[in-house]
Amino acid sequence: MTGKTHIAVGITTAIAMGTTSPIGLGVAAVGALAPDIDHPNSKISHRVTPGKLPRSTLGRYLAGFILLAAGGLLWKPFVIPGLTLVILAGIPHRGFIHSPAFALAIGALGAHMISIDRTLVTSFMIGYISHLIADMAGVGIPLLWPISNNRYGMHMVHTGGLLELVVLIVCISYVVLTLFKGFLVYAF
Ligand SMILES: [Zn+2]
Repeated sequence: MTGKTHIAVGITTAIAMGTTSPIGLGVAAVGALAPDIDHPNSKISHRVTPGKLPRSTLGRYLAGFILLAAGGLLWKPFVIPGLTLVILAGIPHRGFIHSPAFALAIGALGAHMISIDRTLVTSFMIGYISHLIADMAGVGIPLLWPISNNRYGMHMVHTGGLLELVVLIVCISYVVLTLFKGFLVYAF
């Protein structure tokens, strides 16, 4: 599935589950893109690591260690993108990040760390889990990680295929109709 469809499915799921605030929906969209950070050509990877070289594993390690060294020698904040790149380089494509166990772990960690607005953690997790379910309809996810690395999927929705287009249209229609309904309730 493309990033566009993942965003649409994430926002639709969030609205269906009662999220109404624009920030909540934005966070759900980020959550819906987040699992594909392990995918060198995904939308979110392009955002995190602009430029062609840092998208390959070797390039990420190289750029990451250069930034880490620069963080130690020149300016401390360089450590943050450096560490991010090194971690990204070590993550397998469509690996454990796409597992329910990992989703549960980051959900728990997020809820533990963010105490001001927990609803944002919920919105993020709604987006994240909608991504896993959508990928299960297609190529599959490591459903039982860490017990097994096997990928389980229904192989029904293919990237760029007709069914993905149908999903996208249904989701956009749902969002537009909900906004329209909200507008009518507000106006009259
Ligand atoms: Zn994915």
